[in-house]
Amino acid sequence: MRAALDDGGFNPSSLHAEGRRARSVLDGARDRIAGLLGATRTEITFTASGTEADNQALLGAVRVRERPAHIVASAIEHDAVLAALEQLRADGYETTLLPVSRDGLVAVEDFEAALRPETVLASVMYANNEIGTVQPVVELARVARAHGVLFHTDAVQAPGWLPLAVGELGVDLLSLSAHKFGGPKGVGCLYVRRGVALAPIFHGGGQEFGRRPGTENVVGIAGMARALELAEAERPRRSPLIAVLRDRLEAGIRSSVPEVRINGAGAPRLANNLNVSFAGAESEALLIGLDLAGIAVSAGSACTSGALEPSHVLAALGLEPRWRAGAIRFSLGRATTAVEIDGVLSVLPGVVARLRAPAPAA
Ligand code: PLP
Repeated sequence: MRAALDDGGFNPSSLHAEGRRARSVLDGARDRIAGLLGATRTEITFTASGTEADNQALLGAVRVRERPAHIVASAIEHDAVLAALEQLRADGYETTLLPVSRDGLVAVEDFEAALRPETVLASVMYANNEIGTVQPVVELARVARAHGVLFHTDAVQAPGWLPLAVGELGVDLLSLSAHKFGGPKGVGCLYVRRGVALAPIFHGGGQEFGRRPGTENVVGIAGMARALELAEAERPRRSPLIAVLRDRLEAGIRSSVPEVRINGAGAPRLANNLNVSFAGAESEALLIGLDLAGIAVSAGSACTSGALEPSHVLAALGLEPRWRAGAIRFSLGRATTAVEIDGVLSVLPGVVARLRAPAPAA
């Protein structure tokens, strides 16, 4: 990023030597990301976020097709997908939201049963951002293809933890966001399998193979490519190590705090995710109590934090209100240590006990 920044910020679409240098940074980043996904250069479209990649996938793939068109997605998708579906419904398209099990998994049979002759697109996330559950994307994509339905996966949470080879996943469209794997904020990309037609959602110049107008964020894209290389290189070693730390945190919570529920525990989960419900406590109070102790956790979806909304993901699991009200998410990072985990375990039982205790009589 530093090298791209120091080079003067020239426009990669300019024909002069400086512009061609910026173009070569952009092309190099595109080639490296394509290589890491097992894709080709023209299959990668850069965007300004994971949200934009999701919107581009859904709105773009549906709007280019004839009506009637029907779209299938899971009930626990990120708002970037759910709100795009809402827009499609407002435009007169039909959508089906698939239920999930109590552990947050989509059943392949439910998925197949939801497909109709006019279904054009299905979107099921690779891993959930709140509870970390990993969906059976390979099986779902296979079923979709057998029915002639395009398959999109929001893989924003996957890099560094799950394999990303698009050929093996069998997906047609896949969204990524750089800041989820150590890259800068404000850059994402959409993998679009060769031959899949998409209508642009923005209108302007011919950048990104005519799919996404607007001058590319060359510096951010350079950072995204490097971050993905590092995340992929470290994945085989880091993912099991972080899973051990997560399991240590989970076991420590189970043994030191009564009345807890580990959400998604019965399903394959991302190694860095631990979503815990504390009966009789409130998520926001837990978040603040832990924040005061220097421990950063999330409640609901961090992307919309600031205004804590009840989690649509926990609602879709069918959890009783007492488990829904007191859920928080611990996200381990690449640098999280056992000392930090033990530090959380030394503070958490006290914070939970204080918040559960009825307020003293005045
Ligand atoms: N999809 C998932 C699963 C996410 O977790 C997020 C962000 O947290 C997004 C999409 C949106 O990505 P961005 O923040 O780059 O818009």
